Amino acid sequence: MTADILPPDPPVVLFAGPEDARAAYAEPLGKAAERAHLALDLRMDPADAEAGEVDYLIFAANGPVRAFDGFTRLKGILSLWAGVDGILKLDPPHDVPLVRMVEDGMTLGMVDYVMGHVLRHHLDIDRYIDAEPVAVWEKDHPPLACSRHVGVLGLGALGAACAQALSRHGFDVSGWSRSRKEIPGVTCRDGDEGLEQVIGEAEILVLLLPHTPDTERLIDADRIARMPEGAVLVNPARGPLIDHDALLAALDAGRLRHATMDVFDEEPLPEEHPYWRHPRVTVTPHIASATRPETAAEALVGQIARAERGEPFAHVVDRGRGY
Ligand code: NAP
Repeated sequence: MTADILPPDPPVVLFAGPEDARAAYAEPLGKAAERAHLALDLRMDPADAEAGEVDYLIFAANGPVRAFDGFTRLKGILSLWAGVDGILKLDPPHDVPLVRMVEDGMTLGMVDYVMGHVLRHHLDIDRYIDAEPVAVWEKDHPPLACSRHVGVLGLGALGAACAQALSRHGFDVSGWSRSRKEIPGVTCRDGDEGLEQVIGEAEILVLLLPHTPDTERLIDADRIARMPEGAVLVNPARGPLIDHDALLAALDAGRLRHATMDVFDEEPLPEEHPYWRHPRVTVTPHIASATRPETAAEALVGQIARAERGEPFAHVVDRGRGY
């Protein structure tokens, strides 16, 4: 809906994502609002809005808004990212719902990343790609997916989709979350005992937990020691989930076969970090999945429409739990 046909007082929505993302979001947001028959006064630049007139703040921690003073009538802060650890560090107001990004494009992207890296390690594709050209015809068939145990820590929007996709492919999948889940084809566990079970049996362990005080350095020396000999770790979640010294020691010793790491304590990963050159580590530069403007615009407008109808937002962050 364009400005000249707006009904009186449509909610003011301020896009406070990174400046270089404005152009990519402006049209999808406008079109999604039109499809939802929702009149929005959409401002793509914080310079075009007084903080005190903004109803909904579309927010990223690397955007132009760094503080929340003056945003006196906010009905919701809508994160552009799935992980809200960066936003929570800025201490957004406690009386305004903070909403995580859950959108189909990001979920599909994460499923692709996880499936690709799990299959790489399952089939030991590197053995042929990196092989020296010595012309040795050595047949060593990999096991079938059904004989390969994959564990997924975190069964939320992304973890559940990945666990299900892995299971549909045929892997023997178990997963772990705070509350017990029911996911077809996936052995779902919870609690401390459930964590130890998943870690103890996963030949390939995928991390899809948020970074919170409870999950920081969850993958420590003790838990790494309980992973099966030759296991592989795939981490597209957050760097601080892992005790990196313990992981490097296990990789150096050959206890773990490989670690595929997309996220780090410090990003960009410093040039001198041992992960860059470690033969058992693959570094990807936080590209596992991204918020996709087309599908994210649908999700954002859907959230605003819910609030305007007087319904609660979906995927509201629990400030006590940190996700
Ligand atoms: P989510 O829907 O909030 O799911 C989080 C899952 O972790 C839930 O199953 C939750 O359990 C579980 N969990 C959290 N704390 C736990 C604890 N202390 N013990 C046991 N389980 C716990 O999050 P999501 O959308 O799936 O995203 C997961 C993370 O992926 C994000 O936080 C972000 O850091 C990361 N991410 C990375 C990229 C990338 O490109 N690398 C892209 C997007 C997201 P309950 O279900 O019981 O609450």
